[in-house]
Amino acid sequence: GIDLTIDDRVSFIFGQTSGEEDHRPPPSDDIRDVRESLPISRYRDEIIQTIKDPRIPVVIVSAATGSGKTTQIPQFVYEAGIASASKRVACTQPRRVAAMSVAMRVDKEAHATNPGLPKLVSGYTIRFEDHTSDDTAIQFLTDGMLIRQMLSDPRLSSFSVLMIDEAHERTLQTDILFAMVKQLLLARNDPASPWYDPFTVVISSATLERLKFRDFFRMKLGDTTFEPPILEVPGRRFPVSIYYSVDPVRGYVPAAVLTILQVHFTQGPGDILVFLTGQEEIEDAQRQLREQHDTAVRNGLECAEEEMAEIIIVPLYASLPRAQQMDVFAPTPRHARKIVLSTNIAETSLTIDNIVYVVDSGYVKMKDFDEDTGAEALQIVPISKASAEQRAGRAGRVAPGHCFRLYTADAFKRELPESTKPEIQRTKLDSPLLMLKSIGIDNPFGTDLDFLDCPAPEQVRLAAGGLLTLGALQVSAVDTAAVMRRTMVTEMGKLVAQLPMEPAMGVALYAGQQHGCLREMLSVVAMLSADWDPFFKPRTKQGQREAATAHEGFVSQEGDHLTLLSLFNAWSSVPDAQRDQWCHDNFVHARAMQRAADIRVQLMNMLGSAEPVSCALGDGTIPAEPVLRALCQGFFMNTASYVGGPYRLVRPPLDVRVHPSSKFARPPPGGKMPGFVLFHQVVKTRCVYIKTVSKIEKAWVEDLLQRYGKIALDMM
Ligand code: ADP
Ligand code: MG
Repeated sequence: GIDLTIDDRVSFIFGQTSGEEDHRPPPSDDIRDVRESLPISRYRDEIIQTIKDPRIPVVIVSAATGSGKTTQIPQFVYEAGIASASKRVACTQPRRVAAMSVAMRVDKEAHATNPGLPKLVSGYTIRFEDHTSDDTAIQFLTDGMLIRQMLSDPRLSSFSVLMIDEAHERTLQTDILFAMVKQLLLARNDPASPWYDPFTVVISSATLERLKFRDFFRMKLGDTTFEPPILEVPGRRFPVSIYYSVDPVRGYVPAAVLTILQVHFTQGPGDILVFLTGQEEIEDAQRQLREQHDTAVRNGLECAEEEMAEIIIVPLYASLPRAQQMDVFAPTPRHARKIVLSTNIAETSLTIDNIVYVVDSGYVKMKDFDEDTGAEALQIVPISKASAEQRAGRAGRVAPGHCFRLYTADAFKRELPESTKPEIQRTKLDSPLLMLKSIGIDNPFGTDLDFLDCPAPEQVRLAAGGLLTLGALQVSAVDTAAVMRRTMVTEMGKLVAQLPMEPAMGVALYAGQQHGCLREMLSVVAMLSADWDPFFKPRTKQGQREAATAHEGFVSQEGDHLTLLSLFNAWSSVPDAQRDQWCHDNFVHARAMQRAADIRVQLMNMLGSAEPVSCALGDGTIPAEPVLRALCQGFFMNTASYVGGPYRLVRPPLDVRVHPSSKFARPPPGGKMPGFVLFHQVVKTRCVYIKTVSKIEKAWVEDLLQRYGKIALDMM
């Protein structure tokens, strides 16, 4: 029967484990008790004293994940009166979801502790979304948004305490923030400086890298050399047993599903946390898990723990709607077992209580400079050993835990890198370069700022070359000493730097205005920025046929960008109240459309254009050429020519395929493949794909490509 099948197939992956007793603490409804019981709470006074001490502008707090750093420290600061609505405490997060989720949690905690507080005393700011008010004193924001804040408030004068959280993640933005904050400290905390307005920086990190942070902030303040103290908060930890797959796993999604079922049907109480790489994979696993579980139950398989026979599956990924984010934290009823299917958000950013079992796929999705393509691609890569340890540690917070690694012990030893290279060394730098230069830092990646780790000169040249070609930078003076010194931000560059998106996208918008199609570009850019495939793909063959028929009406002959535009326009013309039904009927993700619409409104506000110019003809049809030409102004590097079969990228000259989701994945019926295309993204799975692809004329980008080639040569 199915019983045997599951056990056989699972024990093929792992040996047997023993059940554990229930160590779960009795759930307390009182938020104040919960706060008090966190390890960090015992260090409250010490933390506050240190932050108040004028001789200590930087303090490093290092504690295991789940100790209460993120939720408690900003509250301590607020409760001690060091922060207020006019001098806020900022807490940065590398991830949007974490910023939102933690802000909402802290708001709840703050009101539970003191019901008289104003609404939104704790709020958040993420790209395209600001949930703060004049009463907000505790502000969670992505690290990128805090940097952006410096465009309008270069001294960050609205903050008295900056907490740089999750510093060990070493994201590009976190590293830039480190550099900026160090510079700002020297200006704001020196009594002799015209900017004198002392503030404190709290660096908070899981236990890694704290010595590196200390060395970075060792600096001369007045006549003394300052070195930040490290506050170490011991956490409670239970041992975690690690199990490796005996043989290499073929597909980690089915392997994860089997492992979850084995744990559920054979092991003692405790919730399960599963690390996968992205939304689609998680939704896929969720379906498989539900189906196989229900089949097993129908076939008479019984849970070892009768009283927790039910399973509650909760997904956790970046674009999860706000309401569902809170579901993740809902206490598990006693008769059920919660299974959280998460991206690496749950690795350190968010702590879910009562996890006893961790299932680790061993992979993570990240944006990376691809060694083969030289292009920036989204890809699924093995995690580092440090990550693997973090993931395992999530199992040991409430009781002795178990971590199932869906890879062999040998693969762990030989194939996982020790740690991940900091993002600043493996990413495009055009966006930060333009931003920093706009803030007035002339040579940010050269002599003007101090970084934890420097990017390679080649990365900086590439970024400068791209920005010069786009026209966001221009050569200012004849000074051959240093490339950076010769460039300044153009008027257009300043505009583009204001927009919270990559420069290429901002330039495309700007070009939309020039080409008389800003109205259309706003929609295309909003759809691209929503970063969400709006077309719903059902699982059944029948459903897929119906969806394909429904989607056909939106497909543009010119390619995917215009398809996105026609979808957006169709959706916009439907009255609000009917949109959900319309999306359902047309197999379109309603939330993806709403998000694009929200982004579009924000962009309009930023550009201050109430009536953006449109290229639509009298009968409402939209000519493709101006829209695609405007896109080309920004994305000229994202072009490829047809070489019979694959496409060849313009640079680097690599052969790639068109992603199956694109209109041009197959030749159009009775037609030829377009000779030259523009694409939005490179995605690497087993092979390299270009995604969101449109037909263009080579002539539209030829000048720009030549100019780029010449600039690149000049900079050698
Ligand atoms: P750290 O930053 O040290 O990793 P956190 O401050 O994130 O720790 O977490 C402290 C506690 O707060 C954890 O027990 C976590 O489960 C809880 N917590 C965080 N967010 C929520 C939420 N939205 N709902 C319920 N509990 C939460
Ligand atoms: Mg945290």
